[in-house]
Amino acid sequence: MSEKPLHVIVIGAGLAGLTIAQGLKKNGVSHVIVDRETAPRGRNWGITLSWADPLFEKLLPPELYTTLQACQPDKDLTAEAAGQKGILIRDGSTGKAMTEAHMPLIRRMQIQKTKKHLAQGLNIKYGKKLTDITTDDSGVTAHFEDGTSETGNVVIGADGGASRVRRWLLGEVADQEVMPYAFMNFPFTLPAEKAVWLDKEMNPNVDASAHPKNMYIGLFLLDKPIQEKPETWIFYLLTTWPLTTREDFENTENRLERLRARMDGWADPYKSVVEWLPDDIPIGKDQLRIWHTKPWDNHGGKVTLAGDAAHSMTFHRGQGGNLAIKDADEFVTQMIAVQEGKLSPGEALKQYDEGVVERGKEVAISTAQTDAFHDYANFKESPVFKMGIRPAGGK
Ligand SMILES: Cc1cc2nc3c(=O)[nH]c(=O)nc-3n(C[C@H](O)[C@H](O)[C@H](O)COP(=O)(O)OP(=O)(O)OC[C@H]3O[C@@H](n4cnc5c(N)ncnc54)[C@H](O)[C@@H]3O)c2cc1C
Repeated sequence: MSEKPLHVIVIGAGLAGLTIAQGLKKNGVSHVIVDRETAPRGRNWGITLSWADPLFEKLLPPELYTTLQACQPDKDLTAEAAGQKGILIRDGSTGKAMTEAHMPLIRRMQIQKTKKHLAQGLNIKYGKKLTDITTDDSGVTAHFEDGTSETGNVVIGADGGASRVRRWLLGEVADQEVMPYAFMNFPFTLPAEKAVWLDKEMNPNVDASAHPKNMYIGLFLLDKPIQEKPETWIFYLLTTWPLTTREDFENTENRLERLRARMDGWADPYKSVVEWLPDDIPIGKDQLRIWHTKPWDNHGGKVTLAGDAAHSMTFHRGQGGNLAIKDADEFVTQMIAVQEGKLSPGEALKQYDEGVVERGKEVAISTAQTDAFHDYANFKESPVFKMGIRPAGGK
């Protein structure tokens, strides 16, 4: 058993780290949570929280769980009504449904609002960029760029797809892979009449499409800042296609031009939306990066990973956020067992790591889904047709 009282150091205040910290706090486990950022990052999107919703309820204090609707792009849509609408995948050339997946509950959660919501009640230390980790017989120390450090018994790296903790654990084996697809993710608004049209036309959770020319477009709502003013509603568009041209390989700045050049043969709502975008709409540089989970040595129960740090995947099957919450639940359960003296940190993290590595198989499944969105002839053989958005399994 651990000689010192349990103290957990959570690196990263994203979905995974915040959920872990909330779960540890709810169960009286001593912890600290740090993040390198000093201000929220610009990038925003929504996640479809489906099968992990009951785990969220278990981990969050009731006052945060019962007010989660505030994080939705559309605050008026209940999780039950959203579940009935399900997610929609269309043929991009006709606009007709190819498949729909339904769940009893679906919550669309805007990631920036969710992070702000989940940060409530936590004492997050911002501006702490992890640079190194050291271990000795008595515990583990996380070192930060500003010269400070935190010491405890367990470090959990919830520091995202390019995780520093993962690099410390695995060296070059931790390197992400860049997938050979162009990727764009950008928000937009529309004049009131057009915004109302799109809002009615599209599925309120996920409106994604595969086009026979082997291209993906998804349309989503990001926010309705003023319900009665449709011109304020913010939507966003995700698109991916295989890299073929020099400009795509170089990811040149003329992104809207490159997207528009591929829109012949597209049906509504995608066709009209891309036509209506302002010519000067900012579209940032992006790439699809993944990391296939490989086992790590947790240094006798001192260092482990969660969320995108443990399994970074593409968004095409909507699993990354759900798995981050599953990791949080499994980790908190193990830490409670350590706190109660039922397991040593070594035993607890052995069990946790086995589960997280098993769940990492989703990276390959999501990758197969990404490839399938760009292989129209075989699209109906893909995971979303066979499994919907259900979890792949694992502990
Ligand atoms: C466009 C898009 C759509 C998606 N759609 C869905 C969906 O529908 N359903 C779903 O389940 N998932 C979805 N996902 C995936 C989901 O958003 C992620 O899996 C989830 O947000 C990952 O959370 P995280 O906490 O693991 O990582 P992050 O949110 O990346 O958080 C990591 C945190 O660690 C901090 N950090 C990084 N390095 C350091 C360091 N050295 N020191 C200290 N702090 C550090 C960062 O500042 C950050 O705050 C989508 C993702 C994208 C991009």
